[in-house]
Order: sequence, then C-alpha cells, then structure tokens
Amino acid sequence: MRVELLTVGDELLLGDTINGNAAWLGRRLADHGVDVTRSVVVGDELDVIVAAVASALDRADAVITTGGLGPTYDDVTRDALAKAAGVALVRDAALERRLRERVARAGRELQPMALRMADVPEGARVLANSAGSAPGLRVELPGGVAYALPGVPFEMRTIMDEVVLPELARIAGLPAVARRTLRTARMWESVIATRLAEVEAMDGVKLAYLPGPAEVKVRITVAGGNAAARLADVEARVRELLGPAVYGIEDESLAYVVHGLLADRGETVATAESLTGGLIGAELTGAPGSSVTYAGGMVTYATEVKGRLLGVPDDLLAEHGAVHPDVAAAMAAGVRDALGTTYGLAVTGVAGPDSQDGHPVGTVYIGLAGPGNSRTVAGPKLPVPGTGPEVRAVIRRMTVVHALELLRRRLLGLDVADGDGEAQADREDRG
Ligand code: ATP
Ligand code: MG
Repeated sequence: MRVELLTVGDELLLGDTINGNAAWLGRRLADHGVDVTRSVVVGDELDVIVAAVASALDRADAVITTGGLGPTYDDVTRDALAKAAGVALVRDAALERRLRERVARAGRELQPMALRMADVPEGARVLANSAGSAPGLRVELPGGVAYALPGVPFEMRTIMDEVVLPELARIAGLPAVARRTLRTARMWESVIATRLAEVEAMDGVKLAYLPGPAEVKVRITVAGGNAAARLADVEARVRELLGPAVYGIEDESLAYVVHGLLADRGETVATAESLTGGLIGAELTGAPGSSVTYAGGMVTYATEVKGRLLGVPDDLLAEHGAVHPDVAAAMAAGVRDALGTTYGLAVTGVAGPDSQDGHPVGTVYIGLAGPGNSRTVAGPKLPVPGTGPEVRAVIRRMTVVHALELLRRRLLGLDVADGDGEAQADREDRG
C-alpha cells in the first residue's frame, strides 16, 4: 500500500505556516506501517490541485490531502475533487442540518457561504469531523482513493485517527503494531544509537530518535504477531542498554518525574536561577500537584542580588564573578535555607551568544544542596549548538534539563556523571 500526501494552501508555499500537517501525517502513517512515498505542497488553485491528485494516484494507491475544505472561496479542494472525479457537487442534507445546528447552538447566524461545507462530490463519502465543522471526504477516483481532510491541525488529526487510519490499516491488512516512547536525558543521540545497535537489528523492531536540547526520545515500534508481548521484552533490553539515562515514558516530563520522586519521599525543593530566569521553576510548577513538592524560587540575575538575597559571600563573587562552581553551591544552600526545603537547586552560567568574564558560552554550573549540608556541583561545559541566535534558548533549555536531571539522579542515589556521554565534569562533596 503506497500513500502520497498533498498539503494544500498558499500560506504553506509562502512560508507563513509551517507544514505541520505533513510532518504529523508522515509520522503517524509510518507508525502504522504505511509507506508515505511522496509529499507535495500546492497552493489554493483548483486546476493545480486536480493535476496533483491525478498524478499522485498514477503512482500510489491513495492520496491524503489537507486544507482547502473551509467555507471561503479560496477553499477549493472539494471542487477540485469533484472535477477530478468528473462529478458535480451536491448538497448533503445531513451535513447541512448539522451545520445549521452548530451555528444555532453558538447563537450565530449561518452565513450562506458556510453552506459550501455541506457540498460533497457526488458519490463521495463524508468523513465525520467530531472536532469542527468542515467534514473530511473520501472520493473514489480512477487511479485510487483520495481522502480530503481539513487544514486545521486538530480537526485533521481527529478525522485521521478516528476514520482514515483504521480504514487504511484494514485495507492494507497491516499487522498489529505496539509502540513505546522512552525519554532520556543527558545522553547523546549518537551514543544512544550505538548502544542500541543490537536492538536496531532485531526483526520487526524499528527505533526512531527524536532529539531535543539535552533530551532524546526513543520510540520503539514492534510489528507482527505478539507485538505487545515482544515490545515488553524489547523495552526491557533498551532500558538495560541505556541505564539511568531513561527517566520516563510517553508524555512524562522530567519535572513530572522529579515531582513524583519528591512526593514519594515527602521532600521539597526550592530554586535559585540566574541564566534560566525562572524556567526551572516554570517546569516544576507545570507538573500537576507540584505545590506539595515545589516551595518556590528566586531569580537572582545580577551578581549583587546573588549576594543580597542568597547570601553568596561577597569575597567569592569579587574574586571569581558569578560564574563559578562555588557560587552555584552557595546559591543552592542559600535558597534551601531561605525557603526551608529539603533541597536547593541553583544554576549560574553563560547562555550566550557572547562569552562573559572570559567564560565561553555554555559554561554552566549547577548546584544542589541537600540534607546534612551535602552539596553537589555539576558543570561546567554544555555543548554549544552553533553560533546562531537560537544558541541562547538552547543553552537555557539544556540547563533546565541538566538541573532537573541532577536532582533526579540525587533522589535515586545514582552517580551524577554515570552513563551520559555528554561532556560533564562533575564534582561531589557530601557532608
Ligand atoms: P477551515 O475550515 O479553517 O477554512 P480548511 O480545510 O479550509 O479549514 P485551511 O483554510 O487551508 O483549511 O487552513 C486552516 C488553518 O489550518 C489555517 O490556520 C492554517 O494555517 C492551518 N493549516 C492548514 N494547512 C496546514 C498544514 N499543512 N500544516 C499546518 N497547519 C495548517
Ligand atoms: Mg480555509
């Protein structure tokens, strides 16, 4: 079964909208074992769409289009499908009723133009849209089947998951597929891939790597008989090979995992942030129920404020400046004392794009103060992602991940530097 994608819209050609639909569809279909063999973008032009649909079906069994199903005159995909099929557009009574009801419920008046969304090419099947007003369409054409979906991403995904994917899977007689995403922190994609070479070689197993700053998601897909049971075995092996770098699954963020660990122990944390300006606090408060484990934090950006609010010794700041491991440790201890928490977590460093006081971009120290005045400092060098304007955002994001990961490892009693592969000079001195 070969499928092509046709995403429609002038805004895609002009670069005003990033083609998220094509990306999502490609991944979704691949996940289900359907091959996407080509992906094409065209503008809102009737004849161009007609030609593109015909040419897609010359090669493939099915084409999935998105966009151009709305009520305005620049939405011409349904007209194009009617033309490609050589049929007229007819008003669908049930769709019209549904449209009128939706509009009435919202207390609005139906615009005549909106009734276009109740028009379907003769003989086409309507694909119910439980998420919006423009329905999808399934049209039989000489070369194969066209599925037309709305451009609004949320509506497109809903129809795809509820109607199109199950149908494609049935037609293609696809085997059962089981999937699991493992989330890792502080391990390079290339290190992960090297360690997982033996898994990659297993029959019916596919691995996908989705990297972000200091984090990589590893998606395991197992196809074939007994997929679910095999997946459990494969996941166990992957966890063995990656070790403590795996912190969670699916949608579990690092902050969510850290919150869970703290909650289990009845412990709390406070943050003192310099270069991240509150991002660590924002992550920690993003976990539902976090008020039990996160007391609060201070954004101590200026050097002098680190002394005044956190009690970082003046002579330390005078001698070394703000970017120093002892400063990170003192910040952590200071915020822990001030807020009376089990742990104090602090970061100081250079987000860039320029170096600061002779410290290159990516020099970051993370301090962690804990019970019995124990302290841990991690740093100093994060990998710098090029020299573009995105450097600052990426360094800040990596700092958030490294800080939360330092706390997670401490909570689990893991070696701070274990198993990562990212350049990290860690130093621990407890007691
Ligand atoms: P509507 O009923 O909203 O008019 P439609 O089927 O006509 O739906 P479009 O008008 O093409 O769809 O797009 C609607 C919205 O969806 C726009 O805001 C557009 O930016 C977004 N969108 C359209 N195509 C894509 C795409 N390929 N990727 C991401 N977003 C898209
Ligand atoms: Mg539209």
